[in-house]
Amino acid sequence: MDEFSRINRWNTQRQTNELRELLGVKVGIGDDAAVVSVTKASEHEQPMELLYTVDTMVEGVHFISETMSLEQIGYKALATNLSDIAAMGGIPLHALISISMPNAYDPEQINEIYNGIYACANRYQVAIVGGDTTSSPHTLVISITVIGQVKSGKAILRSGAKQGDIVFLTGVAGQSAAGLHALQHMDAIEARQMYGPIIIAHQKPEPHLMAGKLLLECGGCHSLNDVSDGLASELSEIAKSSKLDIVIQEQLLPISNSLSQYALYSKQSMLDWILYGGEDYILVGTVHVDKVFELESLFANNNLPFYQIGFTQEGNGQLWLESWDEQFRKLERKKIINRGYNHFI
Ligand code: ADP
Ligand code: MG
Repeated sequence: MDEFSRINRWNTQRQTNELRELLGVKVGIGDDAAVVSVTKASEHEQPMELLYTVDTMVEGVHFISETMSLEQIGYKALATNLSDIAAMGGIPLHALISISMPNAYDPEQINEIYNGIYACANRYQVAIVGGDTTSSPHTLVISITVIGQVKSGKAILRSGAKQGDIVFLTGVAGQSAAGLHALQHMDAIEARQMYGPIIIAHQKPEPHLMAGKLLLECGGCHSLNDVSDGLASELSEIAKSSKLDIVIQEQLLPISNSLSQYALYSKQSMLDWILYGGEDYILVGTVHVDKVFELESLFANNNLPFYQIGFTQEGNGQLWLESWDEQFRKLERKKIINRGYNHFI
């Protein structure tokens, strides 16, 4: 199959004209570049700014075919990019897909990856407007660029946390790492039956776009990150760039049944997964203390979780874990050493 037939096979009849029109796509896949109209703000609409993000998944580094189906690999590749848009409080619009494939891969296998990419794109109303296709000597590489938008001046940065803010999470951290451990140490079918939620968290994460939108609209959310490299790493980034300290209250960290049951069964440290696991693609951030109640009910009305897990205080970028010491019957604080996933250590 030549390059053009491949691109056609993977991309034709995947999205409706209605979706393309809605997202201002004038020219999509087929020409040298995509043409999209930048919606002019009407008198009643707020002016918007554009968001650009790109993420690459490399076989053997970010995924192995033993623990993920091709469709799941495609879904996750786009979902992780959309998660970056969610972490700015934005709305995703368009995406470009770059595929570098070894000869060992059949174009039909890449088509399965596209099944996942388009399932995610259609679910979250993102138009695929182009990409690139090359061969690769050894491993499959998928790189996705997403363009989104956010109300002018409203993007939620990681540097905006203020002293006395409450730290929150929009889901349970650590589930993806636990799910990966289960997939590597158990039969996949059994793992799915016994510990479904952690397996799904690893294989098919959903971007928290609705949560990001609610946080932006409600106001008072001073800083935001998505949990890709681990909770400790994300909170460290917020603490450092906002020039303050963050205290995580261990007893407030949310856990799920499947997470605690699998940690018990596998004799692994649940806290390690929560703090350092990563790939959860939930949101973590800080909000003004006066907004917590409003956000809790706003999230509850939308059937979304919202957990308070700590607070910020004066400092210079340190991260602390506050736990209950049973022996001395008092709260004690330990410094958290940041050891999230880093490709070049
Ligand atoms: P050019 O030579 O102008 O760079 P290409 O041959 O690379 O064009 O691609 C032709 C068209 O197909 C372009 O519109 C490009 O965006 C799109 N395209 C190429 N590869 C992919 C892919 N893997 N997925 C989606 N669209 C693709
Ligand atoms: Mg090209």
